[in-house]
Amino acid sequence: MPLFNVYPLYDVTPVSGKGVYVYDENGTEYLDLYGGHAVISIGHSHPKYVKAISKQVEALGFYSNAIQNPLQVKLANKLEALSGCKDYELFLCNSGAEANENALKLASFKTGKSRVVAFKNGFHGRTSAAVAATDNPNIVAPINAQQKVTILELNDIAGVQAELEKGDVCAVIVEFIQGIGGLDQGTAEFFEKVDTLCKANNTFFIADEVQSGYGRSGKFFAYQHYNVTPDVIAMAKGMGNGFPIGGILIHPNIEAKFGMLGTTFGGNHLACAAGISVLEVIEDQKLMENAKVMSEYFVKIAKTIPHIKKIKGKGLMLGLEFDFEVGDLRKRLIYDNHIFTGGASNKKLLRILPPLTVRKEHINMFYEALIEALPEVEAAEELQTQNI
Ligand code: PMP
Repeated sequence: MPLFNVYPLYDVTPVSGKGVYVYDENGTEYLDLYGGHAVISIGHSHPKYVKAISKQVEALGFYSNAIQNPLQVKLANKLEALSGCKDYELFLCNSGAEANENALKLASFKTGKSRVVAFKNGFHGRTSAAVAATDNPNIVAPINAQQKVTILELNDIAGVQAELEKGDVCAVIVEFIQGIGGLDQGTAEFFEKVDTLCKANNTFFIADEVQSGYGRSGKFFAYQHYNVTPDVIAMAKGMGNGFPIGGILIHPNIEAKFGMLGTTFGGNHLACAAGISVLEVIEDQKLMENAKVMSEYFVKIAKTIPHIKKIKGKGLMLGLEFDFEVGDLRKRLIYDNHIFTGGASNKKLLRILPPLTVRKEHINMFYEALIEALPEVEAAEELQTQNI
């Protein structure tokens, strides 16, 4: 039976992992600066994580949400302590799209309104409302286009104000650091004004922290770099280090009634065991601090490389914008140097999303490979130009 492949695939087959490395079936080691698309937070096959999941599946992997599950309480308490999101309520689900879908649905339930404001190049997932709020016509089907979404430019304060004052907007949804869209960020003034406008207009301010959350930006959530208070925070990716788990945090002023949100698998025992161990490792190994320090090191070296024209993002969610399209460079890094990196809609951008456990030695390996590859990339480009 043929597989339906959503993404163009590289011809590499990782079968195991350890820390910041994955290994193919021949034992070849690959340095993972992509983190399985910002999913691997505490490193591949972290021993504490493996132990926690194994122990839990032996005891009880799943039972319905109709019973008490103390692991959910433990996860919520640990999350509150580490994130500083005091008294927010936690609803657990299974993915980033599902988290945003629930955030948008809750906004609509509570405000009685239906229109959503989202931003250019934003990505919020592939479920119905989440994809409608995503700025990519290739993945928005006619059924989603029925949903009322207005896409504005980042930093368009006047636009947000005009839309919110029309009175029918239930939510403004934003990535504080855009992921797949290319690491663009709004200004502090913009985010803070949007926050104020939402509060003045009975509109939810939803922070999509699916990619930027869980310590990746150097703070627990990327919105915490600003003076804002989101009504709902959507999380996934790094939350389970590869185990499918997502969730939303709901501001204490919002009363979500039983039945508004729900799921069969969300918050199951195994997912909670994974989620708790991720938080414990983030805390024990001071990974938020490491993200900050390693980011500074990454950026310091990037500034010395002439082909890198812009450095975007925060923490270990970085984009290096080159003066050429990086498709060939990415291939070269994978096949010749055995280093995974990420791409973006902006073809000149190389995305760096390593596990938060990355260290200077790994960053040095990347730059050594990059410097070695650059003259070859230049030669290949020149050839291409001559062929035209
Ligand atoms: N929001 C953001 C910012 C994302 O980057 C993604 C995934 N790339 C999603 C939502 C969707 O998450 P998932 O694929 O887990 O549904």
